[in-house]
Amino acid sequence: MTRYIDVTDLSRLVARKGLSTCISEMAEYIREDYLRWQDFEKCARLANHSPDGVIELMPVSDANLYAFKYVNGHPKNTHRGMLTVMAFGALGDVDTGAPVLLSEMTLTTAIRTAATSALAARYLARKDSRSMALIGNGSQSEFQALAFHALLGIEDIRLYDLDPAASAKLVANLSAFPAIKVTVAGSVAEAVRGADIVTTVTADKAYATILTPEMIEPGMHLNAVGGDCPGKTELHREIVERARVIVEYEPQSRIEGEIQQMPADSPTTEFWQVINGQVAGRENAAQVTLFDSVGFALEDYSALRYVLDVAKALDIGSEIALVPELKDPKDLFALLRAPVENLQKKRA
Ligand code: NAD
Repeated sequence: MTRYIDVTDLSRLVARKGLSTCISEMAEYIREDYLRWQDFEKCARLANHSPDGVIELMPVSDANLYAFKYVNGHPKNTHRGMLTVMAFGALGDVDTGAPVLLSEMTLTTAIRTAATSALAARYLARKDSRSMALIGNGSQSEFQALAFHALLGIEDIRLYDLDPAASAKLVANLSAFPAIKVTVAGSVAEAVRGADIVTTVTADKAYATILTPEMIEPGMHLNAVGGDCPGKTELHREIVERARVIVEYEPQSRIEGEIQQMPADSPTTEFWQVINGQVAGRENAAQVTLFDSVGFALEDYSALRYVLDVAKALDIGSEIALVPELKDPKDLFALLRAPVENLQKKRA
């Protein structure tokens, strides 16, 4: 049988654990898996583009588990009353191919993206960072704010979005966390001025320049989350040229990240090298660091592994017959011959 986690199950799982705990624990799963980078069979995700969006498949495996995620990115969806990003995914047993988990991944993606952002910032941002500008106040934004609060102690967040209603929603949702001081800025430049960390998490299928060179101050850490497709970037090219750039998986980031604006041999470092201590993250207090995030399948593998472990421990979700388990494994036709309950293997 396959464990099935729907949106309600995942919401219940997060409510039982607490969102900050989920983010911190998932970040640790992600860190553990990045430390095992060489154990994974990896590839850039497969993207099917359309005029208004993209649908992507993200596979990865090690010797034990295979993971994939289906995820879309349609920035105009919110005008139709739908989410920009929606996802689901699965874990399979490599030895047999049997699916062990089928799960919602829309909420899970927001948690894993925020956990990855904050994990990267722990290696790249200045240790004395306390303030963050958060540009783009849509679905991902609460998760980003809470991750940076939980993992880095960020307590002063300045918001900006083209849509004031999105910022008002973020302010209202963060009011449940009084330890975080939230200010709405009148422009990107005002939000960014004096911030230790700048997170951009906007959605627009365009070569956008949310951040321009004159906004960047020495020692800032930039967490660029929203540029994650060919033709979809958030930073002015000069910022990328001058920053110390860390990517998740270079073959995918060259196609989708901020570095798609750069020559194919521009200097970058992969995050796993920083995590395992092979390469320094931030080299000095004045350096501008850039985590050029696009989202990599390994983070979804870690997220699904976490969801499965917690769901089992808390007995959340249901068991479904996603694939047949037969008394005679050579007699698939039997499923069509007689009532299913007589044919499926009896379970203890
Ligand atoms: P969303 O549509 O809910 O929110 C996006 C917000 O950006 C909207 O409120 C919109 O008004 C705002 N915005 C657009 N252009 C802007 C601009 N020029 N200045 C200021 N605000 C602007 O989308 P979401 O689910 O929050 O996702 C945000 C982005 O993050 C998307 O581009 C998505 O593809 C990306 N994403 C990346 C990862 C990753 O792993 N890197 C994971 C999930 C989502």
